[in-house]
Amino acid sequence: MPSGGGAGIVSTMTAELVDAGQQARISGLTLRVLGGEEISRPEALGLFDLEGTADIFDLMAGANRIRERFKGNKIHLCSIVNAKAGACSENCSFCAQSSFYQTDSPKYGFIDPEPVSQAAEEAHRNGVTAVGLVAAWRGLNEGPMLDEVCDRIRQLAAGGKTRPDASLGIIKSQRVADRLKEAGLECYGHNLESSRRFFPAVCTTHTYEERLQTISHLKKAGIKICSGGIIGMGETRQDRCDLAFALREAGANVVPVNILNPIKGTPFENNPPLAPLEILKTISCFRFILPRQEIMIAGGRTVNLRDLQSMIFTAGASALMVGNYLTTLNQPVEKDLQMLKDLGLDPNWDKHGFADQ
Ligand code: SF4
Repeated sequence: MPSGGGAGIVSTMTAELVDAGQQARISGLTLRVLGGEEISRPEALGLFDLEGTADIFDLMAGANRIRERFKGNKIHLCSIVNAKAGACSENCSFCAQSSFYQTDSPKYGFIDPEPVSQAAEEAHRNGVTAVGLVAAWRGLNEGPMLDEVCDRIRQLAAGGKTRPDASLGIIKSQRVADRLKEAGLECYGHNLESSRRFFPAVCTTHTYEERLQTISHLKKAGIKICSGGIIGMGETRQDRCDLAFALREAGANVVPVNILNPIKGTPFENNPPLAPLEILKTISCFRFILPRQEIMIAGGRTVNLRDLQSMIFTAGASALMVGNYLTTLNQPVEKDLQMLKDLGLDPNWDKHGFADQ
């Protein structure tokens, strides 16, 4: 099967169309991953290219077992605060906050201490493990802004209610990463967005290499890495597969999978949506490639998956972004917590527990 964009899955629920060979292959790969082995890129590509509904459900069952083996029934909940909004100098084609595009996104400078405390309080009330400060700018250098950012991180760390995380763009010097660590930062969000091949179709104002370099500085500083990407931007299944392998190589601890929510005014505003089963299959493939990482479903969940949202966990996800996203709305946290309860999943994740990753 070709590694196409993935729209239009043909239903093959009828017994005679189910390929018993595929079933055995999926089950064999599941056993190998459960036994601690890594799957190869060609094997993973075979999973991304599955088309039949029955095969995708077999794949999800395998991914669910792998999640249970390595993550138990714990679900890691994260939330974010838009710490500096809009007017970003970069041209990421999916983003409402880029200054290159006319969108309705809010614009404001770096936030005061008060909203940060409020976000931490609210997260704590809802049992959310981490609060990430997210800034819409190219990156962070040494200077007064770094001092201010470190103040907010110290504030979050001192509150002791949630894990202090941040996503502050490109970091070019080791000293900046070390300063963030000294301030108490535990985990830094920096997506690779897609494969190296597809990245220039997403952004041309900075490079994939700069993103990898940022991750390398942060790792050296002892900060955990939250890095994933966005699917549904026009990339192929091969690109998704390459992204998952790049994240494995980069040593990501948490892997956010965002699903494009096309924003009016951006170059991707008319991108066709991915079929929900294609999304669930992608999550499962990520679980096979990244068995021990937290796979977190983030932006675009409600709009793209609708009634199938709860199936992300049976597809292998072990973490969830809750509360509102940077520029779009999510479903209420109470609804997410109820969904976890109904599935027998436990959101009480140890906020410092990146144990076996
Ligand atoms: S994704 Fe980040 S770097 Fe890219 S335009 Fe949006 S805010 Fe700027």
